[in-house]
Amino acid sequence: MGETVEKLERDFSDFIGAKHAVAVSSGTAALHLAMRALEIGPQDEVIVPSLSFVASSNAILYVGAEPVFVDITGLGDFNLSCDDLERRITSRTKALVVVHYGGYVANMDQIIRIAREHRLNIVEDTAHAIGAELNSGMAGALGDIGCFSFFSNKNLTTGEGGMIVTNQDKIARKLKLLRSHGMTSMTLSRHKGHAYSYDVVELGYNYRMTEMSAALGILQLKKLSHANKKRKTLTDLYVSGLKDVNGISIPFRNYPRPSSYHLFPILLNQRVNREKFMGLLKKEAIQSSIHYPPIHTFSYYRRIIEPKKTRLPLTEYVGAHEVTLPLHPLLKKEDVIFICDKIKRILPKA
Ligand SMILES: *Cc1c(COP(=O)(O)O)cnc(C)c1O
Repeated sequence: MGETVEKLERDFSDFIGAKHAVAVSSGTAALHLAMRALEIGPQDEVIVPSLSFVASSNAILYVGAEPVFVDITGLGDFNLSCDDLERRITSRTKALVVVHYGGYVANMDQIIRIAREHRLNIVEDTAHAIGAELNSGMAGALGDIGCFSFFSNKNLTTGEGGMIVTNQDKIARKLKLLRSHGMTSMTLSRHKGHAYSYDVVELGYNYRMTEMSAALGILQLKKLSHANKKRKTLTDLYVSGLKDVNGISIPFRNYPRPSSYHLFPILLNQRVNREKFMGLLKKEAIQSSIHYPPIHTFSYYRRIIEPKKTRLPLTEYVGAHEVTLPLHPLLKKEDVIFICDKIKRILPKA
């Protein structure tokens, strides 16, 4: 947490167009601190998609609050459904975690309208959507707090790492305290002679970023726009290669909002055996994955959430039939053509 971390924070807040950026050790740490900074705790409910990485809702549990899962919009749009969101708001709902699935920005205009009406805070889980830009601003700067992950498979990586952005001074101050044990002065300011001792004023954590990670982040940020453009080119190539293939549908086609093209998801027809399909891809040396096994279906969550609260038919359908194909900026056009070709041959056998 020296001058390199401070430089990454300045570069990042400039890039996102947010007043404050606070570097942390992971995206999960970012989400946890967001919950703490918004003073969410026991008795509170926080609405979150179940079709996400488990960290999106674990952060809610870390502060003793209850995650309330919201279904997705449909088989062509895996972002949260605004209709289902409104149905799940109660007098205890305090905030909402918006995940921009695969980098495709959720319907923020409508989400912000609903949040204002019900006085809910918005935390954007922007782990997928770094660099996606709407007319109203960049993903991550649209709600109260934006949480980014720099894990190794994200569009910008520092190995492990994360960033929190906000336009609110009070929240930024709190985030900075909580990231380092609630201590009132940091090693760097003592080193510079600004302080010689410190007080502890909050129950904080060690969620600090290292100088080495920040150095990676500064260079990664310079490459991001170019890398995201490459992801878009590859996505367009996948779409043209697979759009007429029987047995597959592609979500987010003609999507009305921007994307950072983090993932390329497809949906298999109900007659296709997904496990077999993924196995046959693997035999061709093509890696695939699933985004996501829905959070509410995990054993731990089944023990703690009442089943009647988890009627999420669209999430469950996508959880059972989705496959994510390789997408990263070092993939070549020929690779995508090769993958599409193999898929056409494999599908009838799966
Ligand atoms: C990666 C990811 C996280 C967690 O980030 P870490 O840096 O791995 O802790 C949270 N939410 C989503 C949607 C993610 O993809």
